[in-house]
Amino acid sequence: MDAKNKTRRDFVKTGAAAGVGAAVVAGFAPERVNAQEIVWDREVDVVVVGAGAGGMAAAIAARDEGASVVLIEQNFDIGGRAILSGAAVYLGGGTSLQRAAGIEDSLEQVFYDWCLQDRPRNRYNDRELAWTYVEKSIETFDFLAANGVDWESLEGRSPDRLDSVPRRPTPRQWPIESEVIVPSQKGSGLMRPLAKSAREKGVVILLQHKMTSFVREQPTSGRVIGITAVEVDEWFKPQDQTTNIRARKGVIFATGTHAGNVEFRRIFDPRLTEEYQAHGDGWVQLNADGPIAALAIGASLWGTAIQTNEADAQLSKGRLATRSNYHALAFPPSAPNFFREKATGLSVRNWQNVVLVKENGLRFYDETAGIRDYEYFAAAMAWTGDLKKLNGGGPIWAIFDADGVEREGWNVMPPDVDPDGYFYTADTLEELAANIDNKYQWRPMPGAALRETVERYNSFVDSGVDHDFKKPTPRYKIQRPPFYAAWATPCVHESYAGVRINTKAQVMDMNAEVIPGLYAAGEAAGGYGQHGLGRCFVYGRIAGIDAARNSAA
Ligand SMILES: Cc1cc2nc3c(=O)[nH]c(=O)nc-3n(C[C@H](O)[C@H](O)[C@H](O)COP(=O)(O)OP(=O)(O)OC[C@H]3O[C@@H](n4cnc5c(N)ncnc54)[C@H](O)[C@@H]3O)c2cc1C
Repeated sequence: MDAKNKTRRDFVKTGAAAGVGAAVVAGFAPERVNAQEIVWDREVDVVVVGAGAGGMAAAIAARDEGASVVLIEQNFDIGGRAILSGAAVYLGGGTSLQRAAGIEDSLEQVFYDWCLQDRPRNRYNDRELAWTYVEKSIETFDFLAANGVDWESLEGRSPDRLDSVPRRPTPRQWPIESEVIVPSQKGSGLMRPLAKSAREKGVVILLQHKMTSFVREQPTSGRVIGITAVEVDEWFKPQDQTTNIRARKGVIFATGTHAGNVEFRRIFDPRLTEEYQAHGDGWVQLNADGPIAALAIGASLWGTAIQTNEADAQLSKGRLATRSNYHALAFPPSAPNFFREKATGLSVRNWQNVVLVKENGLRFYDETAGIRDYEYFAAAMAWTGDLKKLNGGGPIWAIFDADGVEREGWNVMPPDVDPDGYFYTADTLEELAANIDNKYQWRPMPGAALRETVERYNSFVDSGVDHDFKKPTPRYKIQRPPFYAAWATPCVHESYAGVRINTKAQVMDMNAEVIPGLYAAGEAAGGYGQHGLGRCFVYGRIAGIDAARNSAA
């Protein structure tokens, strides 16, 4: 059977038979394709996989160099996680926006602030990759502006955490309301103009197409000459239609974070078991498809120590009663992905209104800890005390009462809460514990334990002192029914480790040799612990330029 006529089932079978390896996970098994047998449906200069930050920049940059470009995206819309983001882009060093606001900055200062300053995320950086990112910051800022991003002025802005001077430009929001995915976030202001520019310049964007493998001349040698892809439905389920696209000059992947792939993320931190969801996985799948397909043809990983570091930003908390537990991620019911997301969630204004308990009904930390407090997450992931579950700490539940709901002003009905496993109510605490029926709640929560936890906490409110976890002056008793249990398990945010690339964004193998014709950008590439969009745009652009110039030929 030729590759063109294979179904998804065959892909999975072939991948397994070829022993693609331990990294193969449910939902993605890259095919080992025989390059000689493949029937190509399309042929272009550059194929880009993933229409998020890195991929969009790569596609435009390659097109600007005169290459014909196909950009494939598995979702029904462009944007990746970038369109959900706050869109504060880590770029600086003396941009025109900074100069217009009278802000003096330098590349060296950016390098120090973001890449060298001694903190866990910087400690294990590949400084060559980090410096190239800084060096290309200004060009990348100009490139984004030239492709329609309308930056807000930096005048009057104070420096953000870690910054010596104001940087991190944010765009104005995209003016077409119906195309804004999360109204409180400016990500649409970045990704919509870029997609518009890409289309106007002639980039062909194929939505609902999922890359299933990279095609290399020989299984682990020679050039990468194209990709195989399969059409997917709105649940990302593969349909029978496959598309094989030949790339004359290069294949670039920017498939985003691996946060949603439990087995892949556990390579770096075995504690991150299935109860931890990934930010934005109701919008895009975050399954490490790019790195896994690249590993299958010989790529190496890079920067793994950074992923495992005890830094902030790996996990976060802040929004209850929905899987997407992130303070800033509130999908309105009008969002086009709401059928996957199912609830907007409850944003917590004051952590005095809830106690947080583990699956065993016991408190474990001061609830007022910051949304990215490493010690909080370490406590959340600590051993459950049962030999049946040694890794992962199990679900975390926010427990509160009718008074807490009133003080927060919450609507405890759908669509604000997801009653399908993520939100429960009852008139007694024992009943509440018994009602919890969530697939990650691996043993029933003991009702007596929950009642005793709440009674003890209420006694701390009387005395004004939390003798267990030092929550500053516990203020409110949990006493007036109905009582509530809302999903509050931390969510995984992003990845710093991915495939190894060089400063041209070319993917490298275990011998530090370039895999000709294969490029990676964004969170799919490893190397240094820089948060977010800046590095994705920078390396996406680098990859697009280099692939179009065919430097790996
Ligand atoms: C709520 C939130 C707020 C954030 N705020 C900020 C912020 O203010 N500043 C900042 O710098 N960063 C922020 N970030 C992080 C930032 O959004 C990401 O770092 C960035 O989007 C990563 O870019 P990327 O190109 O690697 O991946 P993405 O932008 O996620 O794009 C990856 C794309 O690849 C597609 N894809 C994956 N696999 C396949 C496949 N097999 N075939 C086809 N397509 C595939 C995905 O569907 C997705 O569209 C935020 C993130 C979130 C979730």
